[in-house]
Amino acid sequence: MSDVKAILHGTIIDGTGAEPIRDGTVIIRDGRIEAVGAAEVPEGAEVIDAAGRTVMPGLIEGHAHVGGNPKGQQVLRISLQRGITTVCSVSANVNGIAMRDGIASGQLRGCARLVAGCIVTPTNGHVRFRDADGPWEVRKAVREMVQAGANFIKTAASGGFFSKDEVCSMRNYTLEELVALVDEAHAWHRPVVVHCHTQPGLNNCIEAGVDQIHHGGFIDEEAVCGILAADLWYMPTLSVTCQRNIEALADQPWQTIEMTQAQPIHRAGVRLAHQIGVKLCVGTDYPGTGRTWKHGDRTIWELMELESCGLSRMEALVAATKTNAEAYRLDDLGTLEPGKIADVVVLDGDPLAGIEALYDHRNIKLVLKDGRVEFADGDLAKHYSLREAQPADRPPYEDA
Ligand SMILES: [Zn+2]
Repeated sequence: MSDVKAILHGTIIDGTGAEPIRDGTVIIRDGRIEAVGAAEVPEGAEVIDAAGRTVMPGLIEGHAHVGGNPKGQQVLRISLQRGITTVCSVSANVNGIAMRDGIASGQLRGCARLVAGCIVTPTNGHVRFRDADGPWEVRKAVREMVQAGANFIKTAASGGFFSKDEVCSMRNYTLEELVALVDEAHAWHRPVVVHCHTQPGLNNCIEAGVDQIHHGGFIDEEAVCGILAADLWYMPTLSVTCQRNIEALADQPWQTIEMTQAQPIHRAGVRLAHQIGVKLCVGTDYPGTGRTWKHGDRTIWELMELESCGLSRMEALVAATKTNAEAYRLDDLGTLEPGKIADVVVLDGDPLAGIEALYDHRNIKLVLKDGRVEFADGDLAKHYSLREAQPADRPPYEDA
């Protein structure tokens, strides 16, 4: 017998950027969306009343550092409860891949879906997991990561803020190495995601034909225009250089001095990128330092950062859903459209009136992943606590 759910009377934001549908219906059958908008309720459907609430696709966090360990599991648990149904880890190793598969098979319940990317970087590079130098060693490393089960390849074309012994302007891979890495990853049908803050790395990324450029703390006009011309995705991770993050890292001046320098340049770059039509994505170096960020905070904070750079709230929501799904080739995710996987969030309030509605975790009332209730609260918790959802699963904020 098929499992059918009907979410009724909500305001539907479908993730495509289309006008919201008032008093709309979402029909879900066996984990997939069957109909959106005006639809008959199939006989025997389980009815979920979303009157006065917003119904939208689960958010996708595009730049996370989540490992295959209990801490990573906790991050993915709370992410789900914040309405983030997919987390793309740019630093997954073999353990991360095992966790991804455990979640996908249903053995690990109550966690956001994990998309695992493996790192290939030069010796002494910004991020470290599989060091590889020179085109042929780089190709071998990419093949190893694909063999390990990576969904995508992560690399670095410039230094970063993180370590004491680097600055953003240090080049990481040369153009020759990047070209080899991209060619090899694409031969295995894997997208390439690149950490890069400055020139010449940004132009090298564009010339090598990578898929996504992340960060761009010191991005310039040439790079923004180059990203547009090459039709790449840009994931700025503004949360990294935002004031709240800088203040939280006050005891790490080797990070904050450069972050402070980057702050206005980063925002000017994103403003220009938005104006000229670059495909903007949402990712945050998630979950971030626990001194200021509770799990889930950063992804939604990023939407507000993007809004401050000129995106409408609807554009920010689309960036975190449809655009992120396209950037990671997650064809079945990102929007509420017939045929898609039913990752659905029901919340109190209207994120189009203020992203704060989404940021306040108390507003999240129901989260479905693959059409199954993974989190429920308030009147909906009573409905679900003894069946599909994991009861008493409020975010443990005291110790998060
Ligand atoms: Zn990162």
